[in-house]
Amino acid sequence: MPTLFPQLYKAPARPALRFGGRGDSGDSGGEADEVIDYGRLAGAAHSLALRIAGAGRVAVWATPSPHTCVGVLAALLAGVPAVPVNPRIGDGELAHIISDSTPSTVLAAPGDDLPGALAALPRADVPLEAGEAGEPGTGIRYPADATEPDENSPALIVYTSGTTGPPKGVVLPRRAVAVTLDDLADAWGWTGDDVLVHALPLFHVHGLILGVLGPLRHGGTLHHLGRFSPGGVTAALEAGGSMLFGVPTMYHRLAESLDGGDARLASALRGARLLVSGSAALPRHDHERIGAATGRRVVERYGMTETLMITSVRPDGASRPGTVGTPLRSVDVRLVDEQGERIEESDGETVGEVQVRGPNLFTEYLGRPDATADAFAGGWFRTGDMAVRDADGHYRIVGRKSTDLIKSGGYKIGAGEIEDCLLAHPAVAEAAVTGEPDPDLGERIVAWVVPAADGSRPTAEELAGYVAERLAPHKRPRTVRFLAALPRNDMGKVMKRELSHG
Ligand code: ATP
Ligand code: MG
Repeated sequence: MPTLFPQLYKAPARPALRFGGRGDSGDSGGEADEVIDYGRLAGAAHSLALRIAGAGRVAVWATPSPHTCVGVLAALLAGVPAVPVNPRIGDGELAHIISDSTPSTVLAAPGDDLPGALAALPRADVPLEAGEAGEPGTGIRYPADATEPDENSPALIVYTSGTTGPPKGVVLPRRAVAVTLDDLADAWGWTGDDVLVHALPLFHVHGLILGVLGPLRHGGTLHHLGRFSPGGVTAALEAGGSMLFGVPTMYHRLAESLDGGDARLASALRGARLLVSGSAALPRHDHERIGAATGRRVVERYGMTETLMITSVRPDGASRPGTVGTPLRSVDVRLVDEQGERIEESDGETVGEVQVRGPNLFTEYLGRPDATADAFAGGWFRTGDMAVRDADGHYRIVGRKSTDLIKSGGYKIGAGEIEDCLLAHPAVAEAAVTGEPDPDLGERIVAWVVPAADGSRPTAEELAGYVAERLAPHKRPRTVRFLAALPRNDMGKVMKRELSHG
């Protein structure tokens, strides 16, 4: 297989990494952005690759920093599987990840304090420069001097977001990483000329594989904001950012700023080549508000840790809010009914489970052969997500089989549609819909609502009526519960299991 990072040693004359939220026009007086060009990145990653070559697995303390990028890159160059670790993880989850993935070394920025379970491991400090002259690491053009590891060998072990249960360790082969990044380049026209702006965490697929390895594979630039803010996005796009990646909670905050009359943000977003949302469904209301203020639509793509990217809206296609587009070049997608039969209809109505086949798939859940076997049906990976296919082949995600499909009064009702409807109500800031057991209906629709900050308090009756009028009487929430905030994980995904368990 060709190297994962063909551009790295061509040393394109542009920054590879820029960390910091100031952009070029920053006047906040804070620290200057850290900017690392390709030559420096290759040197730093290479010296670390030589130090860790031969290790079994390395954990990477994945702070939003250039050190995380260098650490992961070094592991990939050395052919050592990397396990990115959420730096805000709790002790219990950390202990689970360490005992599950058994890293032999941890990579961290010099000076970073590590929690006990990681501090007990041998540590390699991640450099941002090549080794000193005379040290190993200088002048060797890795991997030209070494054999690129087999494409089936593990590149990364990434833990799922833990939305529906404890995170699972997903073993991703090198091939899957290369394929998904090239598929996205094909779908989005992503090239080395792009400057990608984002503020995503660097321990999941979205922020790390798409958001760091993407620019590096294509020879472009990542501008990471450190922390998300509409002002930081504005400055980074004004400073030359061409693409923006975000999760729906970030686009929601941009929509709120636009609603508040932020003309500078509107103009910056208009100037970007591509605005991409993923990791969860982008509410229609936010889609529409951003569209109205900027004339631009947000491109939605759909994927998961186990499959990397599956479908995407194409930037040049018709605007289709609510769809996640069509399958990427290398990916086979099918819908399957409850009997496991393939659904042939493209009628926008028939709901089935999304199943995926292709070179983008993971190898296994780490140490869980039973879970791995259960996840496949004759070579097809069962995503657990339910969707419909429109006449033109676009997929619309209805929700997860486990938490978003409510069986009520003989109907199968997708939670997302009701959530979208509630979110369009001016007095609703956040909404999640679940099903609860009901003696008459089988399941009863329950809406969890965070009222808007302006103090207007909608009544349960008003909200239930609002949904019934706009969707259908059987989609009316039977119960509405008000909350101060929805429980969300670090990707901004609503953890519905915490809602239903009170
Ligand atoms: P866990 O598997 O631990 O419960 P998770 O499924 O949230 O967590 P990820 O692999 O990060 O972990 O997320 C993949 C899931 O995110 C998909 O299965 C799908 O449900 C959801 N998702 C991703 N992109 C989209 C999108 N554009 N629209 C709707 N849902 C999406
Ligand atoms: Mg999942």
